[in-house]
Amino acid sequence: MFEKIVIANRGEIALRIQRACREMGIRTVAVHSEADRSLKHVLLADESVCIGPAPSAHSYLNVPAVISAAEVTDAQAIHPGYGFLSENADFAEQVETSGFVFIGPDPDTIRTMGDKVAAIKAMQKAGVPCVPGSDGPLGDNPDANLRIAHRIGYPIIIKAAGGGGGRGMRVVHTEATLLDSISLTRSESRAAFGNDTVYMEKYLEDPRHIEIQVLSDTHGNAIYLGERDCSMQRRHQKVLEEAPAPGLTEEQRSFIGERCAQACRDMGYRGAGTFEFLYENGEFYFIEMNTRLQVEHPVTEMITGVDIVREQIRIAAGEPLSFRQEDIVLRGHALECRINAEDPDNFMPSPGTITAYHAPGGIGVRIDSHIYSGYRVPPYYDSMIGKLITYGPSRESALARMRTALDEMVVEGIKTNIPLQQRLCEDPAFIAGGCNIHYLEKKLGL
Ligand code: ADP
Repeated sequence: MFEKIVIANRGEIALRIQRACREMGIRTVAVHSEADRSLKHVLLADESVCIGPAPSAHSYLNVPAVISAAEVTDAQAIHPGYGFLSENADFAEQVETSGFVFIGPDPDTIRTMGDKVAAIKAMQKAGVPCVPGSDGPLGDNPDANLRIAHRIGYPIIIKAAGGGGGRGMRVVHTEATLLDSISLTRSESRAAFGNDTVYMEKYLEDPRHIEIQVLSDTHGNAIYLGERDCSMQRRHQKVLEEAPAPGLTEEQRSFIGERCAQACRDMGYRGAGTFEFLYENGEFYFIEMNTRLQVEHPVTEMITGVDIVREQIRIAAGEPLSFRQEDIVLRGHALECRINAEDPDNFMPSPGTITAYHAPGGIGVRIDSHIYSGYRVPPYYDSMIGKLITYGPSRESALARMRTALDEMVVEGIKTNIPLQQRLCEDPAFIAGGCNIHYLEKKLGL
């Protein structure tokens, strides 16, 4: 097992990774920007290294600085968390060529999955159901593109192969606007992702977002840890997640889960990963794979009892999975509310000093957060300041605990989206379960 790991991230996820390391007897190195000297995990780390000024481009995304920090501290491995360098294949490659272990899949897998066209091809080969589409990049022949769209049937969505973070997509409802939309998406994609490859998919009108968590080791073992429902979104950003997905049957779960696990075995996948699907009329449609830990991983941990970060570290160290598929039993229900430093009415970021913080508690309540009274939320990064997770034997009880916990939670000095989460937890359609990905925006009148 590793003796020392560099945590190449910040905020709640850096703390989450540090906690797993502590339990495993692994020392941690916190790399941080000049604006993040007072982050909780930096204060708690065995060692810390300042890797640059506040803007992420000069610190958390600075590959040579992160790798030098591993060199000067004599660490063996680097955990990238989520966001930042976590899905950067070139970074993973440089980590490995510099003699360190990247806690994640091998660079080629990251590269393949980062190209959505290549990812879909790999999934089709592995028998994972995909959205009907162009089965590859669109060419420059207008007639051919019109024919493809006609075959798929409108509405369709044009997507950038290199897209991410909800950008690089355009919905087309009629033939008249198809060709212009393709050109526009192409040029936007070239500007944003340095890659003008685009493809076409059927646009699903009212799907839910359901994703499968997998773990795959270097000994040929791959398992799935059930699913998460992340349909509560605003601008393609997840707001509240839960596991299991309301109404999904055990047959559906094992059908799709098995296919994802098999795809991992076929690809020789290494580490934790998530297969994201749109789910409509009882059918799953693959949209993308995330080759990293996800923000919402705790809901899966709560219902399976598996520590996903610990497994990631064990897999990276070459150890076999601690569990077989038959050991994984889903128990109860878990919900996660993302707590953001933002105005609950207009969603504007609200950085500043937290003058008072009272964390909720009690049975079935978990908080993954780096905040404390006196902590100053910097304006440079993502506005998420923590995650409130509740667990209960049933969805109803997890929801009742979430309402109580949200009422109990006090964050003063800055604005947070707690009032929005409270409204959502009182919403009859959400309480009934199974809302689609457009529900939250409609409810908010957006
Ligand atoms: P990103 O990598 O930018 O997150 P995704 O491919 O995961 O892109 O898609 C993000 C979101 O866009 C989905 O969660 C869904 O809301 C919407 N979306 C993507 N593809 C489709 C589709 N074929 N039909 C309907 N909505 C889609």
